[in-house]
Amino acid sequence: MFEFEQVPLPKLGITGLEGAMSEEELAIQDVAHRFAEEVMRPIAEKLDKMDHEAAVAEDSPIWEFLDKLEQSGLVDLAAIAGMTNEEKSRIIPIIFEELAWGDSGLAMGYIVSKFPAFAAYHTGDPELIERFGHLRGCWAATQPDRGSDLVDIEATECHPGERQGRGNLVARIEDGEVVINGQTSAWVSGAPIAESTLLYCQFDDGNGIYNDDGTHKYIGVLVPFDIPGVSKGKPLDKMGMRALCQGEIYFDNARVPLKYMIADMDKGYPSFFGALTFGNMEMGISFTGVARAAYDHALAYVHERKQGGTELINHQGVRARLFKMHQKVEACRAMAKRAFEYNYGPNGPHLLASATSKTFVTDTCVEVCSEALQLFGGNGLTREYPLEKLFRDARAAQIADGENNVLGMKSASWLSKVYKDKNGL
Ligand SMILES: Cc1cc2nc3c(=O)[nH]c(=O)nc-3n(C[C@H](O)[C@H](O)[C@H](O)COP(=O)(O)OP(=O)(O)OC[C@H]3O[C@@H](n4cnc5c(N)ncnc54)[C@H](O)[C@@H]3O)c2cc1C
Repeated sequence: MFEFEQVPLPKLGITGLEGAMSEEELAIQDVAHRFAEEVMRPIAEKLDKMDHEAAVAEDSPIWEFLDKLEQSGLVDLAAIAGMTNEEKSRIIPIIFEELAWGDSGLAMGYIVSKFPAFAAYHTGDPELIERFGHLRGCWAATQPDRGSDLVDIEATECHPGERQGRGNLVARIEDGEVVINGQTSAWVSGAPIAESTLLYCQFDDGNGIYNDDGTHKYIGVLVPFDIPGVSKGKPLDKMGMRALCQGEIYFDNARVPLKYMIADMDKGYPSFFGALTFGNMEMGISFTGVARAAYDHALAYVHERKQGGTELINHQGVRARLFKMHQKVEACRAMAKRAFEYNYGPNGPHLLASATSKTFVTDTCVEVCSEALQLFGGNGLTREYPLEKLFRDARAAQIADGENNVLGMKSASWLSKVYKDKNGL
């Protein structure tokens, strides 16, 4: 039993039903929240309304965001690398829920911009750290003909009797160098402003790009963009997450030293799997932040807008709808944090945990944004108010980092494999 002298009002933190947080965690949350509100939201609003080419031009506000985030020290890779797993599982979600509450496109763009640097630091090789540690990066994995097929790592979702296509990007080794030819998809986040990429692509070892089981041979390779043979397409014009610029990267006999290959043929897919596991985990907490942003706007609006002679909140039906939104935001956060705990715990990491969170949170986020938009009535549809942007952002997230249905099928195949393994089937 809990004992009370009187019935109190619930104490709610920035993120609602928050349990114990240390002073350090509260301070980090406060700094991230203020940065999201004061720096990210105004910049994201401008970028969302800008032409997609102007959004990456020299005078774009994107540069102000990148400079200010760097100066804020909020995302210090070295400090994060030095944390215990338990600290990572608590502090990374605190930071990224707030940043995505500010703007999901800017938050996701910043994460992927660090992928090559992160991979370089992970090797511990001073030459790679020197070359890539300070370059703005991106994560190039999908190709025009390899979207969901890429996510279907073990090719479990292929039509019976078929195998995945060749894709559009192949690397080979020649004279001690990795030679790359082909192109990525137009969806490479941050590519228009990147100086390097962590590239995953098919590998021809002299015996073609297919393994005997129909899967592809894959490598992970760091590629700087200041070498001959690398060029970029035009920035993509899209519906949501418009602050996140995207575009193709072309490789025409681009050559990099063999040591830039951070994952060889045996390690390429496991390395990609690790990056996707991290990415999906981040998406889960980030779109919890987006759902919360929609809820926060709706909560404020229903206390202002009057219809039926009173503020909307005084209508029972509106209160019921608002409570459902609150519930869903809490469910998103619980799910997202559980994926962090699993991935940084003794049984993780695994894409199953991250995809469980990513798919649930992004689908639920669309529902919350849609209901928040509905509570704004006609105003929700206009660009004067923030809801239509949040809805577009949330909608993009159901496809980014693996389309949700495909991630669901992959996850179910792992659940079945574990069941069969346990039961000797
Ligand atoms: C905002 C955003 C950011 C992104 N960032 C990056 C990035 O940084 N780097 C990068 O490399 N890529 C990135 N992507 C690409 C993203 O990973 C792909 O869009 C995603 O994997 C889906 O691929 P696709 O768009 O080719 O769709 P497709 O694979 O063509 O899928 C189309 C439809 O077919 C269905 N489908 C596909 N295969 C099957 C199957 N086997 N069985 C049943 N149904 C199937 C899917 O469910 C889907 O509904 C990003 C995408 C978005 C939207």
